[in-house]
Amino acid sequence: MKITRGTCLPDCHIHTRFSSDCDADPRACIEQAIALGMPLICFTDHHDMDFPDGEFQLDVPAYQQQMASLAAEYAGRIEMLCGVELGLLPYLGKERRIERFAEAGQFDYVIGSIHMINGKDPYYRQEFEETDEELYRLYFEQTLESIQENSGFQALGHLDYIVRYGYEKDRFYSYEKYRDVLDEILTCLISRDIALEVNTAGFRKGLGFPNPHPDILWRYRDLGGEKITLGSDAHMPQHVGADFKAAAELLQALGFRYLTLFHGKEESRIPLDMT
Ligand SMILES: [Zn+2]
Ligand SMILES: [Zn+2]
Repeated sequence: MKITRGTCLPDCHIHTRFSSDCDADPRACIEQAIALGMPLICFTDHHDMDFPDGEFQLDVPAYQQQMASLAAEYAGRIEMLCGVELGLLPYLGKERRIERFAEAGQFDYVIGSIHMINGKDPYYRQEFEETDEELYRLYFEQTLESIQENSGFQALGHLDYIVRYGYEKDRFYSYEKYRDVLDEILTCLISRDIALEVNTAGFRKGLGFPNPHPDILWRYRDLGGEKITLGSDAHMPQHVGADFKAAAELLQALGFRYLTLFHGKEESRIPLDMT
């Protein structure tokens, strides 16, 4: 797949009402993407295994059926891919649950993301007794373990997402503070050929940067990492493509030239200066 047209980079992280924390109409998301001039989008609704209260369970057949019918309807106006965002947990690797789910679903793109720490959702910050610093470290340690233990995902979603939910957010946060574990995460991704996602929701969640922090992106490149994917993590149609210009400028300033686009077993590169 070669993407050379369009006035906006493709958004490869979008949620719709198939995610239990979202009521966005997929059609409205597509219309927004077309209005922005995107040549392609990829929906990535949530599926989190063993989430408390049975939340975030994706109805795969209904989801894929709806996405296939929209893809056919919008053919010629925009390319549509159907992906998924899977919640990673270290122990899921023992029975290859992520890998098996991804294989069974034949998704175009699978993002692996860490949404839970010790079985709890850090969105509810008060449920954790740890200080921000302890919680961030715990999140990174469980991220490392999750990516080491699991397969079947092509990109790691929103590394340092936890900073969105700290009491002090990024006030005392830096790459340097967690350098040991972050370097292990980046090295593991590079050696396993897993892409690193740049998730622009960080800008909207009170951080002045995407997830991960630019220093981590810099370090990823410094270690030889090249595979970057880009997504807004939109849960509302108006957030599709949000802050993509800022993200593209940042990535170019850090020396990246391409985004990686996954399309089933294929992957292609999209120049960051496409627009
Ligand atoms: Zn996520
Ligand atoms: Zn997401």
